[in-house]
Amino acid sequence: MNHFELINRLYKEQILSKEDFIRLIEHRTAEDAEYLASLARKEAQKIYGTGVFPRGLIEFTNYCKNDCLYCGIRRSNPNVSRYRLTEEQILSACESGYELGYRSFVLQGGEDPYFHDERMVSIVSAMRKSYPDCAITLSLGERSPESYQALFEAGANRYLLRHETATEEHYQKLHPEAMSLARRKQCLWDLKKAGFHVGTGFMVGAPGQTAAHLAEDLLFIKELNPKMVGIGPFIPHHDTPFKDEPSGTADLTTYMISILRLMNHHLLLPSTTALGTIDPNGREKGILAGANVVMPNLSPIDVRKDYALYDNKICTGDEAAECVGCLGRRMESIGYHLEFSRGDYREYL
Ligand code: SAH
Repeated sequence: MNHFELINRLYKEQILSKEDFIRLIEHRTAEDAEYLASLARKEAQKIYGTGVFPRGLIEFTNYCKNDCLYCGIRRSNPNVSRYRLTEEQILSACESGYELGYRSFVLQGGEDPYFHDERMVSIVSAMRKSYPDCAITLSLGERSPESYQALFEAGANRYLLRHETATEEHYQKLHPEAMSLARRKQCLWDLKKAGFHVGTGFMVGAPGQTAAHLAEDLLFIKELNPKMVGIGPFIPHHDTPFKDEPSGTADLTTYMISILRLMNHHLLLPSTTALGTIDPNGREKGILAGANVVMPNLSPIDVRKDYALYDNKICTGDEAAECVGCLGRRMESIGYHLEFSRGDYREYL
């Protein structure tokens, strides 16, 4: 079977076998990528039109108790200048975001025990009270089922937790011994049970990654059936054990975005900052491959450079308003526009 036939089957059945996914990924050509992207774009437009949902990303702490080998804010990096935002600073970031039009906020941070349940519930409740019309997304890593339940009840709607890689042996290569894929996956099921709209995802081109690992990622995502999938290229950080590893590529990242769109036409799929970092037009390419979300930075300017998960991260110096203007123009240059709304998952056409 040639690749176009495989792609047509994926389009029709929204799934392939592991072997077929591997073939589609391993032996891809530029023609395959363009054909996949054209189908993915068409399906995304049927459901979401040419609107791209912006989410205001607030990076509220770079303290982390974990030691993921790829991540610049890992515990054992002594060169990070650590910061935490106060509840007031978080609310003030939301306020400036709201004025710019944002109706969707994402709070992301390292796994920082300072932000225990009581403190997080207080922050989420305050955001919910001030912004009843906004979606609140959390990305705080692994917590207990009780914690997830409490955060949901406080008013958070969505939770992003990338599984990172769905293959045990690869997960071990990327993480310290104390962390486990089984626990990561359990958290995702717990989040769903608590009522969250869940997002997961992985890095493209992570050290040691093969096409078989990516195929497993796709099969796990099919099983989990999340509302969102965030993927971006791996980019080395100079203070980590992976400092000399090559970055993932924009080509493979956009190819995977298109496959994900064909696996679930309704998916919320960000065109990530990491994609914009390895390619100056990465975010536009992501949208043209079938993505429909962007996540501009809303963190206070003075802390942005300290939330460095990888090297050369873009947009660390721009005012929030500049980011909106710049992204708006970028979307318009490819025939899309920013759509300032909660940006909920659309079940139906
Ligand atoms: N502590 C939270 C948030 C993690 S940061 C959690 O555990 O979910 C968000 C994502 O950034 C991670 O899930 C990871 O996939 C990505 N990331 C980390 N280091 C990276 C790197 N060097 N290159 C590209 N992406 C990276």
